[in-house]
Formats: sequence, structure tokens, C-alpha cells
Amino acid sequence: MKSTPKPEYNHIFGPVPSRRLGFSLGVDLMPHKTCSLDCVYCECGKTTHLTIKPDEYTPVDRIKHELNSFLASNPRLDYITFSGSGEPTLHSGIGEIISYIKSDFPDYKVALLANSTLFYSAEIRKKILDADLIIASFDAVSEELFRAINRPHPGLDSKTIVDGIIALKNEYSNKFWIEVFIVPGFNDNMDEITLIQNFMNSIKPNQIHLNTLDRPGTEKWVEPASENVLKKIHACMHNVKIVQNIDYSASAKRSSVDILKSILTTLKRRPCTVEDLLKSTGADLNRVNQYLDILLKDGEVNREKMPRGIFYTIHSKTP
Ligand code: SF4
Repeated sequence: MKSTPKPEYNHIFGPVPSRRLGFSLGVDLMPHKTCSLDCVYCECGKTTHLTIKPDEYTPVDRIKHELNSFLASNPRLDYITFSGSGEPTLHSGIGEIISYIKSDFPDYKVALLANSTLFYSAEIRKKILDADLIIASFDAVSEELFRAINRPHPGLDSKTIVDGIIALKNEYSNKFWIEVFIVPGFNDNMDEITLIQNFMNSIKPNQIHLNTLDRPGTEKWVEPASENVLKKIHACMHNVKIVQNIDYSASAKRSSVDILKSILTTLKRRPCTVEDLLKSTGADLNRVNQYLDILLKDGEVNREKMPRGIFYTIHSKTP
């Protein structure tokens, strides 16, 4: 009997257990590091294509085909999440893809992780209104800090981002969370935190998440904020959560994806410790170590010591 070949997935990844979204199927619409920002803390490396020009960076039909193949078996998922190694709102077909999921797979919820830079465009805002959850990142009100942390495309400034978030918040009625990435020595001072808090008070997101470096960032000098600093900021802001590790084990066991492929797909998008890979693959320690040894010997992955432990990264960043 002939076996049906497994479809090749280049634009969807996982499902992976996510800290905030449960068991999440990732959709990466963008070529590696095509983004409107070049954040110092980005875990995907330096932005190689800094742009604010929307385009069909990957064919919409290809994304639909991959989603259709994957979702045909009705996998259990908490979210289908637009994220990855570039800014998803730069993709001109994002609205069409969200509509496709909503019409053909209505049981699934859609989340969008966006960097907020394109919300100034009414056309782009309209495309994302059907997402069930938007997590918008926003790190600084002050222009100087915005430039230092996020290193934006020259066509962007902090006021444009603020106005775009306000406009989206006025039009969008589903869950809206803001994520603030704390970079010690930059946006962890009380002046900036007060500015951020005042802005949050005006837009009233459903949740505010404080995040900090967990994996190697683009710039080696970026360090994680200490627990004390995060707690101090947490204490003086309202409605805030600190992004913490959740217990992935229950959901990870649901994964039936091939372990080696799952390791490579995960590392292609972000550096991971062995522990991270245990959680994302649901495999046991021996198996994960076995595969990592093979990948190290083949020169497909690198190993790097960081404050949180030994991290594995993919050797070549091919899309
Ligand atoms: S963290 Fe997000 S917004 Fe910042 S450079 Fe990386 S992909 Fe772009």
C-alpha cells in the first residue's frame, strides 16, 4: 500500500506550547527577519530587511495550502498564532488568511503577535479586526528610548505608534493585550514606566505583560531585568502580569510531530535550552539529547552558554 507523503511545512510551525497561548500553531508569514524594527533584544537575530512596505512576502495560496493540510485532521489547538521571525502585519495577505481560517476552520481561535508599527494604517487595521486576540508590543513612549531599544525604520516614530495603537483600540472589540519588553538601563526607570502607565490608562488593554530577556538577544549586551526590577515595575502599574514559564507538559504530550523536525523548526525561530526543547517536543531527555548530538556533529546547530543555561541555535538561518 502506498503511503501518502507528509506535506512540507515551511510557513507553519509547531504546535508549540506557548507561555500565554496554550497549545499554539505558529504561522510565519514573513521571510526571516523582514521587519519594521530591529530590536536590540530580538531573539531571531538582526533585521536584514528593514521595511514598512506591505507586500505578499510569501504566497497566500501556499499558506492556505499548509493550513488546510495541517488543520484537516482537526488537531487540538488553543490558538493559531501569527508570529515568527518578522512582522506579520507587513504581509499584504494577512486579512485574507485570517478570513480563510475564520470561514473554513471556524472552531479555531486566531492570535496575532504584532509590533504595533503598522497600526497607523487604516487599511492594515481593517485586515486584523477578526483576530480573536492581538498582543501588541510597545516598549517606550519616549522617542529616544524607542529609537535605542527598537531601532525602527526611518519612517517611524513613537507618536505614530502611539496614535496607531489608540486607533486600533477604538476599532477592535476582541481581546487586546500589550507586551512591554523591559531592557535594563533603558525603559526600567520610573519616568518611562510612568509614561507607559499613563498611556496604558488611556487605552485600557485587557492585560499588560512585562517581558524580559529569556533567550540570547541580537545584541550581546542586553541583559534580563532582575526579578526585583520586574516586581517594582509590577507594583507601580495596574493590571500587569509578568510573563512566566507555565507548565507545558500536559499540552506538549498532545504533539505528534516528528521530534527531529520539531527541534529544527523550533530552533529555526528561536534559541532554546534542552529544557525548552523537552517542553516543545514532548520527547524525553535521552531522545532530545540524542538528536542534538547528531545535529551538533552535522554542524546544523550551535551551542552557546548564556546566563539561563546552554542555548542551542540553528546554524544556518535559511528561510
Ligand atoms: S522582536 Fe519582533 S519587532 Fe523586534 S525586530 Fe524582532 S521580530 Fe521585529
